[in-house]
Amino acid sequence: MNDRRRSLPPVNALLSEAERTGLSGRTPHAVLVRAIRETLDAARKYAGGEPAEGWLGAVERRVTEGYRRSLTPVINATGVVLHTNLGRAPLADAARQALADAAGYVALEYELDEGRRGSRQDHTRRLLRELTGAEDAFVATNAAAALFLALSALAADGETIVSRSELVEIGGGFRIPEILAKSGTRLVEVGTTNRVRAADYQNALSPRTRCVLKVHRSNFRITGFTSEVGVDELVSLCRPQGTPVIHDIGSGLLIDLASHGLTGEPLVRGSVASGAVVVFSGDKLLGGPQAGIIVGPGALLSRIASDPLARALRPDKSTVAALEVTLALYRDPGVAITEIPVLRMLTASPADLARRARRLARKIGGATVTAGESEVGGGAFPEAHLATTLVAVAATSCEAMLEALRRHAPPIIARITEGKVVFDVRTLSDDDFGPVAAAVQAARGG
Ligand SMILES: *Cc1c(COP(=O)(O)O)cnc(C)c1O
Repeated sequence: MNDRRRSLPPVNALLSEAERTGLSGRTPHAVLVRAIRETLDAARKYAGGEPAEGWLGAVERRVTEGYRRSLTPVINATGVVLHTNLGRAPLADAARQALADAAGYVALEYELDEGRRGSRQDHTRRLLRELTGAEDAFVATNAAAALFLALSALAADGETIVSRSELVEIGGGFRIPEILAKSGTRLVEVGTTNRVRAADYQNALSPRTRCVLKVHRSNFRITGFTSEVGVDELVSLCRPQGTPVIHDIGSGLLIDLASHGLTGEPLVRGSVASGAVVVFSGDKLLGGPQAGIIVGPGALLSRIASDPLARALRPDKSTVAALEVTLALYRDPGVAITEIPVLRMLTASPADLARRARRLARKIGGATVTAGESEVGGGAFPEAHLATTLVAVAATSCEAMLEALRRHAPPIIARITEGKVVFDVRTLSDDDFGPVAAAVQAARGG
């Protein structure tokens, strides 16, 4: 050990070598020194001698790795359409262009006609009203923030009634009881884990009640001996007392996908029609950027928009830009289904998927096609069975092949099914086929 330590080269020696090879000319001094120190620290820690690539080789690799982008584009071959770890909804071409345009100066809070200050909410308000039937709308950074804001604005000084069957954790540590506590409202639980009745809500309503919250359970199901109270009935029940109902529906489904076999998610328009304040995500089924959208009665939306927290949770210009353009595509549902990648992938026909899978299999070579299922993801349509055709590749070690695919440029994220590495064409574009084939061939060779 001591011998090895003594055999580590001094920093200065590596610096002069870097000068000789030209590395120091291409690398800021501080970056080079840090890479040298890290290389030596690693050798010390693992009691290693000179690396196979040589000391300077190891230093250069660290410098290069340090410059690699961390948030790197990847190819999603998992078949999970709303893959939270991969950034959920991929954006429509028009929304990508809007993001690029918004990189410069944009009329974010500026009324061009009048030459005076405007509101960033104006860019999406009209479209949201038109598409959801709501009187008014407010956009926040994400749905968790939107719910927090709505509760803070409408219920901070009193009680919020929630069914026990809806005190869920959505994922990423988003727990309804904790959000309520943080927003300053007191949780009043009604019903039981599996059943809640209108009378339960009725009995809990009091002068201290500020709001009733209904939460879509998303990725969690209660089946068997169950009952729940619909949002329409809740709003009617609360009307005499003037108590607002907040409906957190999660996914933001703007058009009915039942004809494509996808049922069970609430439509935004349906919930709005009940008179509730409706909260949903921008980057789940809606297929836009990360955002939390609140729509509903004008008087309640005014209270939400004027809450001090609204300023802290407001969206940035990129979100506004991509959301406006995505919403505009919904004016023609046919256009929305073909142009918004999430909707296009979810409604892809089994025959089309099979044809594309055979094409990818031929491109890869030595691959087979097999029937499988894709997933919607993001807690939406958790029980949907999306029939797909998978491209399967045999490997001595599937784990090793997955790792090699992840190291490829661009990284390919695949999965293992029945002892083979599989690629689901549902979440692949035709442009991805080339890189996927090249990555598999490289993985086989290495
Ligand atoms: C996903 C989800 C949220 C959180 O949405 P984010 O946009 O990720 O913050 C909140 N409520 C429900 C019911 C959800 O499904």
